Amino acid sequence: CSVFAGLAQAPEDPILGVTVAFNKDPSPNKVNLGVGAYRTEEGKPLVLNVVRRAEQMLVNDPTRYKEYLPITGLADFNKLSAKLIFGADSPAIQENRVATVQCLSGTGSLRVGGEFLARHYHEHTIYIPQPTWGNHVKVFTLSGLTVKTYRYYDPATRGLDLKGFLEDLSSAPTGAIVLLHACAHNPTGVDPTIEEWEQIRQLMRSKSMLPFFDSAYQGFASGSLDKDAQSVRMFVADGGELLMAQSYAKNMGLYGERVGALSIVCGSADVAGRVESQLKLVTRPMISSPPLHGASIVATILKDSEMYHEWTVELKAMADRIISMRQQLFDALKARGTPGDWSHIIKQIGMFTFTGLNSEQVAFMRQEYHIYMTSDGRISMAGLNAKNVNQLADAIHAAVT
Ligand code: PLP
Repeated sequence: CSVFAGLAQAPEDPILGVTVAFNKDPSPNKVNLGVGAYRTEEGKPLVLNVVRRAEQMLVNDPTRYKEYLPITGLADFNKLSAKLIFGADSPAIQENRVATVQCLSGTGSLRVGGEFLARHYHEHTIYIPQPTWGNHVKVFTLSGLTVKTYRYYDPATRGLDLKGFLEDLSSAPTGAIVLLHACAHNPTGVDPTIEEWEQIRQLMRSKSMLPFFDSAYQGFASGSLDKDAQSVRMFVADGGELLMAQSYAKNMGLYGERVGALSIVCGSADVAGRVESQLKLVTRPMISSPPLHGASIVATILKDSEMYHEWTVELKAMADRIISMRQQLFDALKARGTPGDWSHIIKQIGMFTFTGLNSEQVAFMRQEYHIYMTSDGRISMAGLNAKNVNQLADAIHAAVT
């Protein structure tokens, strides 16, 4: 008997549930393409060499204690994180207009930003793309915001629905918050071009909308940290305000360390100071202060030019392997004469391919080929390698024919 006896069993998280099902499958040939984490060519998780080095340095330094961080987190980490996404020459940084707080990876940054807006911003509706990362709706709803969607993806072209995107923003209220994936849109892998970003920017600024960027893949998409930050920097360059949620899960492979930052670019240094003081009031009752270890790793790497360089090389190698898996999968389908146009596999960007397979086809592939992916047909390219790419191509071929 329990006071919780009447409790219903909660459904599994739609993304993490894929791994739960995968783990239960006894087949030796099973392939997990559901998880959004990098895997090596051998199918193993990867700790970057530069991260191992930074950890060694931290462990061997007797002056390092395990004291609490301030509520806002590690000061060096915050400064270097803002510099990484906005650029070293960013006017907003030079003018001290950025308030940055360390948060629990990307998710925590979105959550703190969402709650800050619910408390202090006049418009409580946030527009998120349709589709988007499944957790966005829950994070922002729990933050106290009202979530609405804008059209983003066109299933017919497997590309951007720019017209729908701009129409939906046009009919949204002035001042609304708009969640934008900085690069490597999850789950579609479809990003606006620079010209398209410019149209989006002009419309949003003309309607005084507040951009809330989610950057979970900087450097991981193209292999270049600067290129993947271009969209964000366009919005900073116009002098307007915005929110920025940054994650080091993918680009530094620090998934479980939960390292991220929320930056708010403000109109003046004075406002940024007050914004920071209010962000502390959001964080304190939520987690008191953020964790030390992961932020120390990031700060160690970002502040040393040689370690920074080593990181960019390792990051590019991860991005390049994913890009090459796109080509290999595309070639394998072409070799099989699989019906349909599969060019979106090589056009899409970042960790995921939005295959266009429907939930019945996904279920078929799980049943017959022991290949696991989310029911929307999203596959993690990072889970592919030379060994399993043919198995996937066989499965897709069988599913569509
Ligand atoms: N935002 C997007 C678009 C993501 O894809 C993810 C992770 O998959 C996150 C945010 C949050 O990741 P984390 O909290 O692990 O940094």
